[in-house]
Amino acid sequence: MNFIIKLLISSVLLSVFLLSSATAQDCNYYRAKYHCPVEKRFKLHLSFDDGVGSVTPQVLDTLKRERIPATFFVLGNKVDCQPYRNRCKAGDKKSCQSLQLCQQRRQTLKRIKKEGHLIGSHSYEHYHHSKLSPAELQSTIKRSKQILQPFFTTKPAPFRLPYGDGWFNQKDQPQVMKALKQNGFTHIGWEMSGFDWNKKNQHGTKILDNIMTQMCSGRNGTVLLHDGVFENEHEGRIFTAKHLKEWIPVLRCVADFVPLSDLNKKLKPL
Ligand SMILES: [Zn+2]
Repeated sequence: MNFIIKLLISSVLLSVFLLSSATAQDCNYYRAKYHCPVEKRFKLHLSFDDGVGSVTPQVLDTLKRERIPATFFVLGNKVDCQPYRNRCKAGDKKSCQSLQLCQQRRQTLKRIKKEGHLIGSHSYEHYHHSKLSPAELQSTIKRSKQILQPFFTTKPAPFRLPYGDGWFNQKDQPQVMKALKQNGFTHIGWEMSGFDWNKKNQHGTKILDNIMTQMCSGRNGTVLLHDGVFENEHEGRIFTAKHLKEWIPVLRCVADFVPLSDLNKKLKPL
């Protein structure tokens, strides 16, 4: 009887292990599927934009289980609870509900830091930064800094521009990158994207396929994913948060997950 129980427990443990890790045979299959160079390993860093979102804790659970260091580019307005507090005090009931959600997001922000991930700014508002006036540009960058400063752990602090606007077009719009530098930030772009913001990709293994295809074509670096949406604070990037745990064993076939500081030598610990 005792033996049967032991056997049952070990087979359950074995299936959990098999589900959460890809075997060498699986890895050969994935290398062939995505045309990965034989035996080459890549450096990969996961980054998440537009949070803190309702699904961020789910992403954190996966990262914790898999021991993967990531970077979260947080929108200042998601974790600035004072405006909600003021409107709630003035008697606006809807703002009181929003205040509660904002306070939950701040708790999650604390958890991100506590679990050793990097926190960067995604600005205060999700604007096209190259289209802002000089005053608006300074204001949105500075407001995000005021809110997020206690959560930064590097100098300079990482910043990712919404839509990459001001980064990929910095030759024509140099004022945006200049303003970031003036405010003590360094811009972190991305070498790969899951294109998970696009609803068309939110099914099957499309997002994983996107990352694997880009990586196996020879890219190391940071991949852009999302753990929130900027349009509606109550929504989340549900698909990525839900399926990340299934993609990791496949990514591990060809990549080692590294902290951002391994890829960007400018980032010094505070
Ligand atoms: Zn964004």
